Amino acid sequence: MSGNILAADIAVVGGGASGIMAAIAAARTLREHPGKGKASGSAAGPGSKTSRVVVLERCDRIGRKLLATGNGRCNFSNAGIDASLYHSAPWVRQIYGRIPPPQVLEIFESMGLLARREENRLYPASGTAASVLDILRLEMDHLQVGIHCDFAVASLKPENHGWLVKAADGRQVQARRVIMAAGGKASPQLGSDGSGFELMKALGHGLRPTEAALTGLKCPSGDLKALGLKSLNGIRLQAKADWYRKTARQSPGMALVASETGEILFREYGLSGIAIFQLSRWPGPGEIRLDLFPEMGREALLHRLVQMRRELGWRNRGDLLAGMLHKRVSQAVLQYAGLDTKGKSEDFSDRELGHLADVLKSWRFPIAGSTGWPQAQITLGGLLVRDFDPATLESRIVPGMYAAGEILDVDGPCGGFNLHWAWASGWLAGTRSALSL
Ligand SMILES: Cc1cc2nc3c(=O)[nH]c(=O)nc-3n(C[C@H](O)[C@H](O)[C@H](O)COP(=O)(O)OP(=O)(O)OC[C@H]3O[C@@H](n4cnc5c(N)ncnc54)[C@H](O)[C@@H]3O)c2cc1C
Repeated sequence: MSGNILAADIAVVGGGASGIMAAIAAARTLREHPGKGKASGSAAGPGSKTSRVVVLERCDRIGRKLLATGNGRCNFSNAGIDASLYHSAPWVRQIYGRIPPPQVLEIFESMGLLARREENRLYPASGTAASVLDILRLEMDHLQVGIHCDFAVASLKPENHGWLVKAADGRQVQARRVIMAAGGKASPQLGSDGSGFELMKALGHGLRPTEAALTGLKCPSGDLKALGLKSLNGIRLQAKADWYRKTARQSPGMALVASETGEILFREYGLSGIAIFQLSRWPGPGEIRLDLFPEMGREALLHRLVQMRRELGWRNRGDLLAGMLHKRVSQAVLQYAGLDTKGKSEDFSDRELGHLADVLKSWRFPIAGSTGWPQAQITLGGLLVRDFDPATLESRIVPGMYAAGEILDVDGPCGGFNLHWAWASGWLAGTRSALSL
């Protein structure tokens, strides 16, 4: 394309999940409606090349992030997709009303994907994210979607009832419609560097401030030693995590914002694991309180500790919790509770056991913030949804511009919800932009 202007009916900015799906939907729609689109007759001038749908991707290949999803297995959707679980729920509900969750699964089936369910999470039966990217690529080849890599879009200008899209290296595309699918800022090493936000802001779109989410939570560096996190690093357990955030209004300054029961992964810097990822959707400094025995009330737990003191009193104090917890976790709990580990378990006083029960039900980890963009799976915030028509995903600010995926102010929980949003919104934007030609 060097030196020439490429003419296209639809240019998709970003070759991630939403952009790829938008390109497929647009190309399928144009194929089904051959009267639509005129790229081959457009006035890009001598020497220009034409293509009906093109994907412009800043990386050297499309779908890099997709390959990393679900630990390389791509948890591509969920059997329990529900709009109310997303940020911007009323707006998302309108979109899922137009493209109901089963339709997304049918689209994948139509491309030959066999899905396998693990609880509600949906994965490709092949066990690898590469097969999701493979079927999408095959479909794009079949539909003759043009893919232009190393194309970092640097400016978007409305002109002649369409758009002039320029890359940082000077290459240009004239397109009648643009679909902005450049993602957010999460895991920039996989392509999404936030440049899409700047391009859309320059066109007058509003932005809700962004924060990293579905990521680990860091404890203040001064607390790491007292919490024993170095020795806990890498240990996983099941627990209930309550997330108390600092609030300006409340005294003594903590309010419960969310609870999650599931896997906790201890890290040298703080806490990770799926339950913590979910809680990271509510950012801010605060405190995680772990209930290590959510299935037992505090009194039942205390009763058990008293029974252990009576029946296993010959154990060393440091071994009282053996059989209940990972050894290093029980050491860290006893250290955190300030209980002396010298002597025999029969020496624990009632007060000490009561305090231990309290800690086991509410082990507190002060949180300074998240581990940040490089490890984040998603972006909180993004383009204000009120600037986009939920019937078409066309901008209400600049006609002919559509948006899909994570760049919009929509985020969902861990478990396939975010990729599902990328597919569904990409499909709608692709279809509607093509029908608008
Ligand atoms: C490690 C990891 C694991 C994850 N696992 C899951 C999972 O299992 N299930 C799930 O539902 N979600 C998962 N997610 C989240 C999910 O991947 C994202 O929500 C989804 O990829 C968003 O799709 P998108 O197309 O909007 O953005 P992206 O996938 O980020 O794609 C945006 C694309 O645009 C390109 N781009 C950016 N700026 C420009 C520009 N100026 N010019 C041209 N191209 C540009 C980028 O290079 C990128 O290829 C995971 C995320 C990460 C990081």
